[in-house]
Amino acid sequence: MGIFDELSRKDHEQVVFCRDEVTGLKAIIAIHDTTLGPALGGTRMWSYANEEDALRDVLRLSRGMTYKSAAAGLNLGGGKAVIIGDAKTMKNEMLFRAYGRFIQGLNGRYITAEDVGTTVRDMEWVRMETDSVVGISRALGGSGDPSPVTAFGTYEGIKASLKWHTGNESLAGRTVAIQGVGAVGYHLVSHVVKAGAKVVIADIDHDNLKRVTDEFSGIEVVSPDRIYGVACDVFAPCAMGAVVNDETLPMLKCAIVCGSANNILADEDKHAVALEARGIIYAPDYVVNAGGLINVANELEGYNQDRAMKHAEGIYDVTTQIFRISRDEKITTVKAANALAERRIAALGRIKDTFCGSGIRRRGRA
Ligand code: NAD
Repeated sequence: MGIFDELSRKDHEQVVFCRDEVTGLKAIIAIHDTTLGPALGGTRMWSYANEEDALRDVLRLSRGMTYKSAAAGLNLGGGKAVIIGDAKTMKNEMLFRAYGRFIQGLNGRYITAEDVGTTVRDMEWVRMETDSVVGISRALGGSGDPSPVTAFGTYEGIKASLKWHTGNESLAGRTVAIQGVGAVGYHLVSHVVKAGAKVVIADIDHDNLKRVTDEFSGIEVVSPDRIYGVACDVFAPCAMGAVVNDETLPMLKCAIVCGSANNILADEDKHAVALEARGIIYAPDYVVNAGGLINVANELEGYNQDRAMKHAEGIYDVTTQIFRISRDEKITTVKAANALAERRIAALGRIKDTFCGSGIRRRGRA
C-alpha cells in the first residue's frame, strides 16, 4: 500500500505510528480532519491479521468520525486509533500509559475514548498521561455510560422520521420493532413505550429480553430471525451492523429504518437505493446514533447530562434536514447526510481562510 496515496485518497491529515519496546505497544492514530476542531474518536484494540488491515481500518473509521461530528453539530474533527493486539491477553496499565504519552505528544490534536476492545478502565490509565481522553467514569467526573443519550438521540430520529413520513411525530398506536435490547435498545424501549407505541423485540440474550419484559408490559418477543418480517412503522436495529442486506431487505415490512447500530446497511450505496425503491425511509445510522459521541464530547466542557440530552434532542432537526436535502437534491438519505457534513466543514473552512493571519484562533471546544 502506498501510504501517502492512501492518505490523500480520503483526505487524511496525519497518521501517527506508535511503538513502545518495553510494553509491546503497537498503535496507529489517524487524524482525518481538524477543520471543525480537535479530532475525536475512540481507540480500538484488535488482533488484526496484518498491519495493512489495521491501517485500513483506522483510516476508514477516522474519516467516519469527521462526518459524524460534523453532522452532529460538534466543533470536533474526526480521528480514530487502533492498538494492534489481543484485548483479552495484552492489556496492562503500562501499555495504556505508554499509549497515553503518544496522545499527549499530539498536543490536543487527537482526543481519544473507549471503543471495541477497550474499556473505561483502560481510558483511566490513558488519562494518567494525558488530558486528551473522554468517556471516563462518572466517579472521575466523566460522562459514564453513553447509552441513555444514544437511545434518546435515536428516539428523536424516530420521531423526525415519523413526522416526515406521516406528518405526525406521535408514536401513539405505532408499532416499533427493536432488534437488540442491550444497553441502547433497553433505553429505546423505555422511550417508545412511554410514548404509547406497541413494541416488538428480539434478542439472542435471554437475560436482556427478560429485563425488558419484566419491566414493561405488553412487549411482544419474536425470534431473532423473525424481527425483519414484523409488520411495523419503525424497524430499529440496535444490535449489530450490516443487518439490512440482500437477504433481509425483501423481508422488511416497515415504513422506516431508524436504529442505533453502526453500519446498518451492508452496502451504503446499493441498499440505500434499494430501501428507497421499496418506499422505506432510512434515517442514516451515524446521524441518529450520535448521542454517544455528543455525550463524551460534552466532557470537554465539564460533563452535564442535561446539556448532553439537550444537544442530542437536536438529532430531530438534523434528521429532518437530511430528509429535506435528500428530497430536494434527489439523492439518498445516506448521500444527503454526507453532503450536510461536508458543507458544514467547507463553510467553516472558508471562515478560517477569511480570518487566516488575523490572530483569531479556533477554540476547539465541543
Ligand atoms: P449491547 O452489546 O449492549 O447490546 C446489543 C444487544 O444486541 C445485546 O443484547 C445482544 O444480545 C443483542 N444481539 C446481538 N446479536 C443479535 C442478533 N443476531 N439478534 C438480536 N439481538 C442481537 O450494545 P449497545 O451498546 O446497546 O449498542 C447497540 C448498537 O448501537 C451497536 O451496534 C453499537 O455499535 C451501536 N452504538 C452504541 C452506542 C452506545 O452508546 N452504546 C453509541 C453509538 C452506536
